Amino acid sequence: MNETSRRGLIVINTGPGKGKTTAALGTALRAAGNGMRVLILQFLKGSWHYGELDAIEALGKALSTADDPSIVIRQMGRGFVKVGGAETDPEDLRLVEEAWNEAAQAIASGEWDLVVLDEINYAIGYKMLSPEKVAEVLRSKPEMVHVILTGRNAHPSLIELADTVTEMREVKHAYQKGILAQRGIEF
Ligand code: ATP
Ligand code: MG
Repeated sequence: MNETSRRGLIVINTGPGKGKTTAALGTALRAAGNGMRVLILQFLKGSWHYGELDAIEALGKALSTADDPSIVIRQMGRGFVKVGGAETDPEDLRLVEEAWNEAAQAIASGEWDLVVLDEINYAIGYKMLSPEKVAEVLRSKPEMVHVILTGRNAHPSLIELADTVTEMREVKHAYQKGILAQRGIEF
């Protein structure tokens, strides 16, 4: 690849089918294996313990030098949120704001080669975070930084801004047969 053609991409994984977060994690794995520094911030997650937290912690330790964290994942919420106007708990709003401030700072700092904003589309869809604020930070990001945004119903303005957008289409999902979330596949 021509070195001068390298640039940071804005990638969105959206749509109703399964695979948005796991595809982002796969890309994070790929980037980390290339020696890139990867930060994964998970919006609205926190009540479940996902396998990726331990796997990434172990990988981070294996790849890191003391002052270079290489790959880091952080849950920035407390799980399920009640939504809908006045019903939104102020504490959830505060956590989204905190997550967003950290995300904006991480992107702008240029300290990370890839920043994954997992489930951020839900926070925007639930009107807990303004798409304009997100677009502003993406537009002014350092050129080489890659950003991945996940979650259903990505905002049209962000789809417009993105370089690569994939919509997961549901063909079928085990849940429809009454099969609950399975360890290792769903969490
Ligand atoms: P994954 O984390 O498995 O990649 P995702 O990020 O595409 O899923 P989310 O909208 O974040 O999907 O929802 C996360 C949880 O909901 C996962 O446990 C996933 O299996 C489940 N899920 C995703 N799509 C569907 C669906 N179409 N029907 C039922 N459950 C789903
Ligand atoms: Mg997800």
